[in-house]
Amino acid sequence: MTALIRTRADLRRCVTAWKRAGQSVGVVPTMGALHAGHLSLVEAAKAACDRVIVTIFVNPAQFNNPADLAGYPRTEEADAVKLAPLAVDVIYVPAPEEIYPEGFATKVSVTGLTEGLCGAHRPGHFDGVTTVVAKLFAQTGADRAYFGEKDYQQLQVVTRMAADLDLPVEVVPCPTVREPDGLAMSSRNMRLPSETRAAAATLYRVLTGMAADLGQGAALADLRPAAEAALQEAGFDRVEYLDLRAARDLAPLDRAGPPARLLAAAWLGGVRLIDNIAVG
Ligand code: AMP
Repeated sequence: MTALIRTRADLRRCVTAWKRAGQSVGVVPTMGALHAGHLSLVEAAKAACDRVIVTIFVNPAQFNNPADLAGYPRTEEADAVKLAPLAVDVIYVPAPEEIYPEGFATKVSVTGLTEGLCGAHRPGHFDGVTTVVAKLFAQTGADRAYFGEKDYQQLQVVTRMAADLDLPVEVVPCPTVREPDGLAMSSRNMRLPSETRAAAATLYRVLTGMAADLGQGAALADLRPAAEAALQEAGFDRVEYLDLRAARDLAPLDRAGPPARLLAAAWLGGVRLIDNIAVG
Protein backbone atom coordinates (compact mmCIF):
# COMPACT_ATOMS: atom_id res chain seq x y z
CA MET A 1 0.00 0.00 0.00
CA THR A 2 1.35 3.38 -0.98
CA ALA A 3 0.95 6.14 1.61
CA LEU A 4 0.48 9.72 0.47
CA ILE A 5 2.31 11.89 3.02
CA ARG A 6 2.24 15.68 3.12
CA THR A 7 4.09 16.61 6.32
CA ARG A 8 7.64 16.02 7.47
CA ALA A 9 6.33 14.91 10.89
CA ASP A 10 4.35 12.05 9.30
CA LEU A 11 7.30 11.19 7.08
CA ARG A 12 9.64 11.12 10.08
CA ARG A 13 7.37 8.63 11.91
CA CYS A 14 7.34 6.35 8.92
CA VAL A 15 11.09 6.46 8.27
CA THR A 16 11.96 6.02 11.96
CA ALA A 17 9.97 2.75 12.04
CA TRP A 18 11.71 1.46 8.90
CA LYS A 19 15.16 2.32 10.24
CA ARG A 20 14.41 0.59 13.55
CA ALA A 21 13.58 -2.51 11.53
CA GLY A 22 16.96 -2.22 9.76
CA GLN A 23 15.43 -1.46 6.36
CA SER A 24 17.21 0.53 3.65
CA VAL A 25 15.50 3.58 2.17
CA GLY A 26 15.71 4.87 -1.41
CA VAL A 27 14.46 8.28 -2.52
CA VAL A 28 13.54 9.53 -5.97
CA PRO A 29 13.22 13.33 -5.88
CA THR A 30 10.97 14.75 -8.62
CA MET A 31 8.93 17.79 -9.50
CA GLY A 32 6.03 15.60 -10.65
CA ALA A 33 4.45 15.47 -14.11
CA LEU A 34 5.90 11.98 -14.12
CA HIS A 35 6.93 10.13 -17.26
CA ALA A 36 8.80 6.92 -18.07
CA GLY A 37 12.14 8.59 -17.24
CA HIS A 38 11.04 9.17 -13.65
CA LEU A 39 9.56 5.67 -13.46
CA SER A 40 12.91 4.15 -14.49
CA LEU A 41 14.48 5.81 -11.44
CA VAL A 42 11.73 4.36 -9.25
CA GLU A 43 12.36 0.90 -10.69
CA ALA A 44 16.08 1.20 -9.95
CA ALA A 45 15.27 2.25 -6.37
CA LYS A 46 12.79 -0.61 -5.93
CA ALA A 47 15.39 -3.11 -7.12
CA ALA A 48 17.98 -2.02 -4.55
CA CYS A 49 16.13 -0.69 -1.49
CA ASP A 50 13.73 -2.17 1.07
CA ARG A 51 11.64 1.00 1.09
CA VAL A 52 11.12 3.63 -1.61
CA ILE A 53 9.95 7.22 -1.29
CA VAL A 54 9.06 9.32 -4.33
CA THR A 55 9.02 13.03 -3.57
CA ILE A 56 6.96 15.46 -5.63
CA PHE A 57 7.78 19.10 -4.99
CA VAL A 58 7.84 21.92 -7.53
CA ASN A 59 10.64 23.82 -5.85
CA PRO A 60 10.17 27.58 -6.28
CA ALA A 61 13.80 28.21 -5.25
CA GLN A 62 15.21 26.56 -8.38
CA PHE A 63 13.16 28.55 -10.90
CA ASN A 64 14.92 31.68 -12.10
CA ASN A 65 11.96 32.51 -14.36
CA PRO A 66 8.55 33.17 -12.72
CA ALA A 67 6.66 32.28 -15.93
CA ASP A 68 8.44 28.90 -16.04
CA LEU A 69 7.39 28.24 -12.41
CA ALA A 70 3.78 29.34 -13.03
CA GLY A 71 3.52 27.18 -16.17
CA TYR A 72 5.22 24.10 -14.74
CA PRO A 73 2.81 21.15 -15.08
CA ARG A 74 1.19 19.98 -11.83
CA THR A 75 -0.50 16.59 -12.24
CA GLU A 76 -0.58 15.01 -8.78
CA GLU A 77 -3.49 12.64 -9.38
CA ALA A 78 -2.15 11.38 -12.68
CA ASP A 79 1.27 10.96 -11.03
CA ALA A 80 -0.23 8.74 -8.31
CA VAL A 81 -1.92 6.62 -11.01
CA LYS A 82 1.41 6.20 -12.85
CA LEU A 83 3.17 5.19 -9.64
CA ALA A 84 0.46 2.71 -8.56
CA PRO A 85 1.84 -0.33 -10.45
CA LEU A 86 5.28 0.27 -8.91
CA ALA A 87 3.88 0.07 -5.36
CA VAL A 88 6.28 2.54 -3.78
CA ASP A 89 5.98 2.87 -0.01
CA VAL A 90 5.47 6.63 0.17
CA ILE A 91 4.65 9.50 -2.16
CA TYR A 92 5.81 12.57 -0.27
CA VAL A 93 4.14 15.78 -1.48
CA PRO A 94 5.19 18.49 0.97
CA ALA A 95 3.52 21.88 1.04
CA PRO A 96 6.05 24.70 0.54
CA GLU A 97 6.06 25.48 4.29
CA GLU A 98 7.18 21.93 5.08
CA ILE A 99 10.33 22.67 3.11
CA TYR A 100 10.71 26.40 3.74
CA PRO A 101 9.16 27.16 7.15
CA GLU A 102 8.90 30.75 8.31
CA GLY A 103 12.32 32.21 9.00
CA PHE A 104 14.11 29.78 6.68
CA ALA A 105 17.55 31.31 6.06
CA THR A 106 19.96 28.64 4.86
CA LYS A 107 21.40 28.04 1.41
CA VAL A 108 23.47 25.07 0.25
CA SER A 109 25.73 26.15 -2.59
CA VAL A 110 28.25 24.16 -4.63
CA THR A 111 30.94 26.21 -6.38
CA GLY A 112 32.85 25.42 -9.59
CA LEU A 113 30.65 22.72 -11.09
CA THR A 114 27.66 25.08 -11.05
CA GLU A 115 29.32 27.94 -12.88
CA GLY A 116 28.98 26.98 -16.55
CA LEU A 117 26.35 25.31 -18.74
CA CYS A 118 22.88 25.63 -17.11
CA GLY A 119 24.42 27.51 -14.18
CA ALA A 120 25.54 30.32 -16.48
CA HIS A 121 22.05 30.72 -17.95
CA ARG A 122 19.88 30.10 -14.88
CA PRO A 123 21.23 32.25 -12.02
CA GLY A 124 20.51 30.72 -8.61
CA HIS A 125 19.10 27.53 -10.12
CA PHE A 126 21.63 25.11 -8.66
CA ASP A 127 21.58 26.74 -5.22
CA GLY A 128 17.84 26.08 -5.25
CA VAL A 129 18.44 22.47 -6.29
CA THR A 130 21.16 21.70 -3.73
CA THR A 131 19.25 23.38 -0.91
CA VAL A 132 16.06 21.41 -1.54
CA VAL A 133 17.88 18.14 -2.23
CA ALA A 134 19.87 18.46 1.02
CA LYS A 135 16.57 18.98 2.83
CA LEU A 136 14.91 16.04 1.09
CA PHE A 137 17.88 13.82 2.00
CA ALA A 138 17.52 14.91 5.64
CA GLN A 139 13.74 14.54 5.74
CA THR A 140 13.66 11.12 4.06
CA GLY A 141 16.77 9.70 5.77
CA ALA A 142 17.54 8.01 2.44
CA ASP A 143 20.47 5.61 2.10
CA ARG A 144 20.35 5.93 -1.70
CA ALA A 145 19.06 8.67 -3.96
CA TYR A 146 18.32 8.19 -7.67
CA PHE A 147 19.02 10.92 -10.21
CA GLY A 148 18.81 10.94 -14.01
CA GLU A 149 21.73 11.57 -16.36
CA LYS A 150 19.22 13.63 -18.33
CA ASP A 151 20.14 16.48 -15.95
CA TYR A 152 23.82 15.67 -16.11
CA GLN A 153 25.18 18.81 -14.47
CA GLN A 154 22.62 18.48 -11.66
CA LEU A 155 23.73 14.87 -11.11
CA GLN A 156 27.38 15.94 -10.76
CA VAL A 157 26.47 18.87 -8.50
CA VAL A 158 24.34 16.73 -6.17
CA THR A 159 27.02 14.01 -6.06
CA ARG A 160 29.62 16.65 -5.10
CA MET A 161 27.34 18.13 -2.42
CA ALA A 162 26.70 14.74 -0.82
CA ALA A 163 30.44 13.96 -0.75
CA ASP A 164 31.47 17.40 0.51
CA LEU A 165 28.90 17.44 3.32
CA ASP A 166 29.53 13.78 4.32
CA LEU A 167 25.85 13.06 3.79
CA PRO A 168 25.23 9.35 4.46
CA VAL A 169 23.56 8.84 1.10
CA GLU A 170 24.75 7.21 -2.11
CA VAL A 171 23.80 9.19 -5.22
CA VAL A 172 22.92 6.66 -7.94
CA PRO A 173 23.02 7.81 -11.60
CA CYS A 174 20.39 6.44 -14.00
CA PRO A 175 20.51 6.56 -17.83
CA THR A 176 18.34 8.96 -19.84
CA VAL A 177 15.06 7.48 -21.08
CA ARG A 178 14.10 8.65 -24.58
CA GLU A 179 11.08 8.74 -26.85
CA PRO A 180 11.28 6.40 -29.87
CA ASP A 181 12.65 9.26 -32.03
CA GLY A 182 15.41 9.98 -29.51
CA LEU A 183 13.94 13.02 -27.73
CA ALA A 184 14.90 12.84 -24.05
CA MET A 185 11.73 12.51 -21.97
CA SER A 186 11.00 15.62 -19.95
CA SER A 187 8.04 17.11 -18.11
CA ARG A 188 8.59 20.20 -20.28
CA ASN A 189 7.99 18.27 -23.51
CA MET A 190 4.24 18.50 -22.92
CA ARG A 191 4.58 22.27 -23.33
CA LEU A 192 6.06 21.93 -26.85
CA PRO A 193 3.61 23.26 -29.45
CA SER A 194 2.50 20.21 -31.48
CA GLU A 195 3.99 21.56 -34.72
CA THR A 196 7.46 21.61 -33.08
CA ARG A 197 7.37 18.12 -31.59
CA ALA A 198 8.96 16.35 -34.58
CA ALA A 199 11.75 18.95 -34.74
CA ALA A 200 12.57 18.47 -31.05
CA ALA A 201 14.33 15.16 -31.78
CA THR A 202 16.87 17.06 -33.90
CA LEU A 203 18.69 17.97 -30.68
CA TYR A 204 19.52 14.33 -29.96
CA ARG A 205 20.36 13.64 -33.62
CA VAL A 206 22.78 16.57 -33.68
CA LEU A 207 24.43 15.46 -30.44
CA THR A 208 24.77 11.89 -31.71
CA GLY A 209 26.36 13.06 -34.96
CA MET A 210 28.77 15.37 -33.15
CA ALA A 211 29.75 12.64 -30.69
CA ALA A 212 30.63 10.34 -33.60
CA ASP A 213 32.79 13.06 -35.23
CA LEU A 214 34.46 13.90 -31.90
CA GLY A 215 35.21 10.21 -31.49
CA GLN A 216 37.03 10.37 -34.85
CA GLY A 217 39.25 13.16 -33.51
CA ALA A 218 37.37 16.25 -34.73
CA ALA A 219 37.60 19.48 -32.71
CA LEU A 220 34.44 20.86 -31.11
CA ALA A 221 35.02 24.33 -32.57
CA ASP A 222 34.99 22.87 -36.11
CA LEU A 223 31.71 21.01 -35.53
CA ARG A 224 29.73 23.65 -33.70
CA PRO A 225 28.73 25.96 -36.61
CA ALA A 226 27.12 23.16 -38.64
CA ALA A 227 25.42 21.76 -35.54
CA GLU A 228 23.92 25.13 -34.65
CA ALA A 229 22.83 25.63 -38.25
CA ALA A 230 21.10 22.23 -38.27
CA LEU A 231 19.19 23.13 -35.11
CA GLN A 232 18.17 26.50 -36.49
CA GLU A 233 17.05 24.93 -39.75
CA ALA A 234 14.89 22.48 -37.79
CA GLY A 235 13.15 25.42 -36.13
CA PHE A 236 15.10 25.94 -32.91
CA ASP A 237 15.10 29.61 -31.93
CA ARG A 238 18.31 29.74 -29.97
CA VAL A 239 21.14 27.49 -28.83
CA GLU A 240 22.10 28.41 -25.27
CA TYR A 241 25.14 26.17 -25.10
CA LEU A 242 26.65 23.24 -26.92
CA ASP A 243 29.72 22.16 -24.99
CA LEU A 244 32.12 19.28 -24.49
CA ARG A 245 33.03 18.72 -20.84
CA ALA A 246 35.05 16.25 -18.78
CA ALA A 247 32.56 13.70 -17.44
CA ARG A 248 33.27 14.20 -13.73
CA ASP A 249 34.47 17.75 -13.08
CA LEU A 250 32.83 19.31 -16.17
CA ALA A 251 36.07 21.02 -17.17
CA PRO A 252 35.81 22.41 -20.75
CA LEU A 253 37.33 20.22 -23.48
CA ASP A 254 37.96 20.94 -27.15
CA ARG A 255 38.41 17.33 -28.22
CA ALA A 256 37.45 13.85 -27.07
CA GLY A 257 40.02 11.92 -25.06
CA PRO A 258 39.27 11.56 -21.38
CA PRO A 259 35.72 10.38 -20.53
CA ALA A 260 33.59 13.29 -21.70
CA ARG A 261 30.04 14.49 -22.08
CA LEU A 262 28.54 16.57 -24.86
CA LEU A 263 25.83 18.81 -23.40
CA ALA A 264 23.33 21.18 -24.96
CA ALA A 265 20.49 23.53 -24.10
CA ALA A 266 18.33 25.05 -26.83
CA TRP A 267 14.97 26.78 -27.18
CA LEU A 268 12.19 25.45 -29.39
CA GLY A 269 8.66 26.85 -29.50
CA GLY A 270 9.22 28.78 -26.27
CA VAL A 271 10.42 25.67 -24.41
CA ARG A 272 13.96 25.18 -23.15
CA LEU A 273 15.21 21.68 -23.93
CA ILE A 274 18.39 20.15 -22.50
CA ASP A 275 20.14 16.94 -23.41
CA ASN A 276 23.57 15.31 -23.19
CA ILE A 277 25.38 12.17 -24.26
CA ALA A 278 28.60 10.37 -23.42
CA VAL A 279 31.61 10.83 -25.73
CA GLY A 280 34.36 8.24 -25.74
P1 AMP B 1 12.42 16.51 -12.56
O1 AMP B 1 11.05 16.07 -12.16
O2 AMP B 1 12.50 17.04 -13.96
O3 AMP B 1 13.06 17.41 -11.53
O4 AMP B 1 13.30 15.20 -12.58
C1 AMP B 1 13.39 14.36 -11.47
C2 AMP B 1 14.45 13.33 -11.72
O5 AMP B 1 14.11 12.56 -12.88
C3 AMP B 1 15.83 13.94 -11.98
O6 AMP B 1 16.82 13.16 -11.35
C4 AMP B 1 15.94 13.86 -13.48
O7 AMP B 1 17.26 13.81 -13.95
C5 AMP B 1 15.22 12.55 -13.75
N1 AMP B 1 14.78 12.50 -15.14
C6 AMP B 1 14.04 13.43 -15.81
N2 AMP B 1 13.88 13.06 -17.09
C7 AMP B 1 14.53 11.88 -17.25
C8 AMP B 1 14.74 10.99 -18.35
N3 AMP B 1 14.25 11.26 -19.55
N4 AMP B 1 15.45 9.87 -18.13
C9 AMP B 1 15.96 9.59 -16.90
N5 AMP B 1 15.81 10.39 -15.82
C10 AMP B 1 15.10 11.52 -16.00
